[in-house]
Amino acid sequence: MAKDLPPLVIHLDLNELLELNQVLEQASSGLIARGEVISKDPSRDSKILKVVVDLFQPLAAELTIKLGDGTGSDRFLKAAYAWGLDPEIGGMSAQGVTRSKLEKFSRMAADTGKPVTGYIFEGVIANWIMDYLGSKPVSVNNIFGTTIAHELGHQLGLGHEKGAGDIMFVFDGESRGNQINWLRSAERDALSFTDAQIKKMQSLLSTP
Ligand SMILES: [Zn+2]
Repeated sequence: MAKDLPPLVIHLDLNELLELNQVLEQASSGLIARGEVISKDPSRDSKILKVVVDLFQPLAAELTIKLGDGTGSDRFLKAAYAWGLDPEIGGMSAQGVTRSKLEKFSRMAADTGKPVTGYIFEGVIANWIMDYLGSKPVSVNNIFGTTIAHELGHQLGLGHEKGAGDIMFVFDGESRGNQINWLRSAERDALSFTDAQIKKMQSLLSTP
């Protein structure tokens, strides 16, 4: 289906993702603070990557996801610990920037000074989970993977959609019921891009 399209290369820097279950436990007891050392599940990166790979597989004949801090004309997203940021912003990303222009769109990563084109914020997502889902255990890796896909969707030209059954659900300003529905669907890894969204992303992907 996508054999004429250029390969899609996505760089993800997930180094700042902590073990969120522990973060949640400490946060709910008021003990969490930035810089605290919390152990990290060594297999969580691969669990998150599987969600992302599955969601973007229909897009390109060749999909490569690299961990690390790649920059340039590839899609690049960084995980950032940001407890107490605007509680509705779980991530941010360039929207609809073509490959040749992507390099010019960048925010400097606060910790490394390297340009990035998108972020997801773990602390904010932890807030969502505490506020909206509450009970544990929660499959946080699926929620991270889906949030990463949402932000990369912006980079590939997608805007927001109203429905809680859509990866590009706007979240901010929506009803609490819809927000809970979206998080529950993300947790079950039950969301996927629509055919129209895939077509739109493919058209941007084939634009230099
Ligand atoms: Zn968005």
